[in-house]
Amino acid sequence: MIDTRKDWDTYFMDIAYMVSTRSRCGRRHVGAVLVQGKKLLGTAYNGAPMGMPDCSEAGCMISEEVSLVQVDGEEKMVKKQRCIRTIHAEQNLLLFTDRIDREGSTVYVTDEPCWTCANMLANSGVVEIVFHRSYPKDTDKVTSMLNSKEIIFRQLQLYEPPNETLTSVSN
Ligand SMILES: [Zn+2]
Ligand SMILES: [Zn+2]
Repeated sequence: MIDTRKDWDTYFMDIAYMVSTRSRCGRRHVGAVLVQGKKLLGTAYNGAPMGMPDCSEAGCMISEEVSLVQVDGEEKMVKKQRCIRTIHAEQNLLLFTDRIDREGSTVYVTDEPCWTCANMLANSGVVEIVFHRSYPKDTDKVTSMLNSKEIIFRQLQLYEPPNETLTSVSN
């Protein structure tokens, strides 16, 4: 008999995508789940603090950042806009879970963590981070930091999210 069940990576990433549909930020819907062994210990998405208006009510709060990047050996200033109204999914996940549950756990997150989230996850007891969509802006520094912390950091390359969880967002 062929085992047609979903593998665990697909199973937990599907849940992360389901959770991401709760997000009300028009720019990015991110979901994250905490897994200990095969047990789901927490879910979170990016959103404004409880009781505060979210992006769908008050609009995104756009902040423009400038960062220095290397392009063909030359330093270039690159402007980036991001929404700062929301607490990122990974940070909400840390706010809603206990340290003791996180020791040795895995985080599945729909999007590659930004620098701040990766930094916080690195200090949270989590030993593995699995993501699907790339966020190239911070990849280099996030990867080298997580490598030196010996945290497993991997992308699900062949994964396909459930169709109903994909909402069109403006970038
Ligand atoms: Zn927003
Ligand atoms: Zn983040």
